[in-house]
Amino acid sequence: MALIVQKYGGTSVANMERIANVARKVIRTKEEGNSVVVVLSAMSGETDRLIQLARQAADVPDLREYDALISTGEQVTITLLAIMLNGMGHKAKSFLGFQVPVSTDQAFSKARILSVEKDAILKELDEGRIVVVAGFQGKDADNNITTLGRGGSDTSAVALAAALNADVCDIYTDVDGVYTTDPNVCAKARRLDQITYDEMLEMARAGAKVLQPRSVELAKKYNVPVYVKSSFSDEGGTLVTKETKGMEKEIVSGVTYDRDQAKITVIHVPDRPGIAAAIFAPLAENNIMVDMIIQNSSIHGFTDLTFTVSRKEAREATRIIADAVREVGAEKFEVDENVAKVSVIGNGMISHAGVAAKIFQTLFREQINIQMISTSEIKVSCVVELKYTELAVMALHDAFGLESAR
Ligand code: ASP
Ligand code: MG
Repeated sequence: MALIVQKYGGTSVANMERIANVARKVIRTKEEGNSVVVVLSAMSGETDRLIQLARQAADVPDLREYDALISTGEQVTITLLAIMLNGMGHKAKSFLGFQVPVSTDQAFSKARILSVEKDAILKELDEGRIVVVAGFQGKDADNNITTLGRGGSDTSAVALAAALNADVCDIYTDVDGVYTTDPNVCAKARRLDQITYDEMLEMARAGAKVLQPRSVELAKKYNVPVYVKSSFSDEGGTLVTKETKGMEKEIVSGVTYDRDQAKITVIHVPDRPGIAAAIFAPLAENNIMVDMIIQNSSIHGFTDLTFTVSRKEAREATRIIADAVREVGAEKFEVDENVAKVSVIGNGMISHAGVAAKIFQTLFREQINIQMISTSEIKVSCVVELKYTELAVMALHDAFGLESAR
């Protein structure tokens, strides 16, 4: 008998019919002799709706109340599923975050999980119940409700799987696995049977929407096997796991893009110690994540600094940077929201030269100008003009032969 955590995303619980479909899948897993913990998102669109309401209530909503509000979508889906399961003759019980409890820090709207208590859930499983847990939420040390950031129910599911020492964490979504790139952009995209935690992490961070990056970090840390599957079909699926021998062959495993980018350039910055700190420390203090950073080598004691942030945070970043620019005595700064980041990811890059060169040649052939470049051991990212996103993705997918099966 296995302990299985199953997470269903917003589209999988979008209406009563789909929740009934989830109920049938859960029952089937239970009847196969497994203990089942289900983690749910809110109905698709519901969290967005709640966020809009909060913004109508105040320009800058109080974050404690904001989290208590936007976490309610999950309360609806878990109770509906539990009611349905009980009605179908299967013992089930719902748990809100604080009832587990899932303990987090106090960073409202982007809280991090500190611990997950397993005893209450294990007791229910022992008594033969199906446990249905609200994703995306927890509680802080003062019993305030917290949320884990958008897409956070993936992280809830993996954290529960780790705490309960589950055999597998199944993430049910509206696609049947992880693809070499977004099938909506590139028809030749191919589903991967397996992918390593590191590759998945880079893909998620580079814009692939299938899993929240933090859930992959957790899965890697606790070695939780994660299976990405479709809730609408029994076919397919991608296993996210640690590297195995057979997986090494592939140099590149995927191409991703992220349109949620804005590029900020600080021009004519005096090149002296402390400049980068003066610019980036205030951004960090305001919890703004900086992605790529490039500093040119200086000429006559001055340099330019370019970096990217999420487009959603560009306005706030601009406000902060305006102060910093004055403080460090830079000439001016420019913001460009007309950009996207395209990334090529693969474990094999560690041991293969020439991947970056091939990327640059491919983009050159399409006459796409590269505005910024950043690399990690297993990723190369380029910032390009927004309108070239799809073209760049398709060209790179072709250049690395990703459509042909392994
Ligand atoms: N309902 C939350 C959101 O829309 C959490 C999730 O779906 O993972 O972000
Ligand atoms: Mg999601």
